[in-house]
Amino acid sequence: MALTGLDIFKLLPKGNCKKCGMPTCLAFAMQLAQKRAKLDDCPEISEEAKQKLAAAAAPPMRKIVFGSGDAQVQTGQETVLFRHDEKFHNPTVIAATVSDKLAGQALQERIQSVKALQFERVGTHIGIKAVAVVNESGLADTFAQVCSAVKDGTGLALILVSDSPQAMAAAAKRVGQSMPLLAGARMNTAEAMAKVAKDTGCPLVARAGSIEELADLSEKIKAAGVENIVLTLDALTLADQLYGLSRMRVLSLKKVFRPLGYPTLSFVGQGDASRQGAIAVSLACKYSGIVVLDTVEPGVLLPLLTAVMNIYSDPQKPVQVEPKVYAVGEPNENSPLMFTTNFSLTYYSLESDVEASRVPSYILVVDTEGTSVLTAYSGDKLNEKVVAQAMLKHDVAKLVKHRKLIIPGYVAVMSGKLEEATNWEVMVGPRECSMLPKYLQDVWK
Ligand code: SF4
Repeated sequence: MALTGLDIFKLLPKGNCKKCGMPTCLAFAMQLAQKRAKLDDCPEISEEAKQKLAAAAAPPMRKIVFGSGDAQVQTGQETVLFRHDEKFHNPTVIAATVSDKLAGQALQERIQSVKALQFERVGTHIGIKAVAVVNESGLADTFAQVCSAVKDGTGLALILVSDSPQAMAAAAKRVGQSMPLLAGARMNTAEAMAKVAKDTGCPLVARAGSIEELADLSEKIKAAGVENIVLTLDALTLADQLYGLSRMRVLSLKKVFRPLGYPTLSFVGQGDASRQGAIAVSLACKYSGIVVLDTVEPGVLLPLLTAVMNIYSDPQKPVQVEPKVYAVGEPNENSPLMFTTNFSLTYYSLESDVEASRVPSYILVVDTEGTSVLTAYSGDKLNEKVVAQAMLKHDVAKLVKHRKLIIPGYVAVMSGKLEEATNWEVMVGPRECSMLPKYLQDVWK
C-alpha cells in the first residue's frame, strides 16, 4: 500500500526550512503522497528515511524503455485509469511480427512491408514503432540471424519472442546493443531468461496465464536482478484478457501493488486481418502498453494507429497547428486568401478541400487556442479584432495585391465588423468546407 501524507511526514526532518519550496514539512509530505513532489526536493532528509520513502515516491507503474537511438520507445508510467482524470502518458506501442522461418526474398518482402507502416495524419506522424521477431524455427542461430536482418532492415525497436533461453541468448548477443525487449520468461525459464536480461541490460517480458502467476513471476524475475519488466497475460479469451488487464491496472495504480506495477504487452493471434485490428483496438483501450499483430495490412494498421493517437491525446489540450500563413499549392499575389482557426482537424479538413479545388491559395491560421470555428466564435476567441491582428502580425497585405478575405460561412455574422476593422472586402465562404472546391472554382476566376 502507498504511504499516506502522515506516514511520510513522520520520516521527514520536521525542520520546516522551506528548502523544498513548501512552507512546511507537512505540506511537502502531502505533495509527495500525491506524487506531486520528488523526494530529492528535500535536501535535509536522512539516507535511512530516503530509502524508506523511495518506494512510496516511485510511480505506481514503472516506465520501460527499449530500442535505441531514434528507434527508442517507452511504455508504462501511467497514472490514471481514465483519460479524463488527467491524461494517458505513453501511447500503446504497435508492433508487427516477422517469423524467423522466413528467409531470402520472403524475409526481405516482409521487412519492407513492416517498414512501410508509417503514416501522416492531421499533420502528425504515426506508425508502428517495433518489430516482434518470432522464433518459430526453434533454432538459435537462425533466430539470431533474422533478428539482425530485421534490425538492419527496419531500423525499428525489436521485440525478441522465444521460449528458448538458448535462442534468446544467441539473439541478444547479436542485437543486444539495440536494447531489444526480450519476450520472454515463463515460470520454468525465469532464471535463465533473467540471466540473459541481466547480462545484456535488456528489459524482460514475464508471461503467465493468470494474474496471480504473473505477480509471482515478476517477483521472481526482480529477485534475480532484473528491474525492467513487462507483463503478458497469456492464453486467455479476449474477454478474459480485457478483464485481467483492467484488474491489473486497478491493482497497480489504485492499490500500488508493486508486483503488477509494470506496463503490459499483448499478442493478437493470427487470423483475419480486420479481426486482428478490432482486437488490437480493444487491447489498446484496456490497457495494453504494447500490442503485437501478425497482419501488416495498411488498411488495418492505419485505423488502429489513429485510434491510439486519439486515446492518447491530452483531453485538456486540443491538437493544434501553428498559427501562421500556410501556402496550399503555389499561390501568388492574385491567389485567394482565407482564414480558419488553429484547431488541427479544422485546418487539415480545410487544407485538403483547398487542395482538391486545385486553386492555389493562402490560409491564414488564427490562434483560437486550438478550438474550432464555431466554438471559438461563441467563446469570443474569434472576432474581428483577433482576425485583424492576425492579418497584421502575419503581414498578409504583402502576400496578395487584392484586398479580399474569404471567411468561414459559419461566422458570416462577423463580416460587417471585419470589413470595418480591416478595410478588406469580406467574402463569405461556404459553411461546410467540402463545398469549398466548387466555391473557389466558381468565385475565384
Ligand atoms: Fe521539511 Fe525538507 Fe522541506 Fe525543509 S526541505 S521544509 S526539512 S521537507
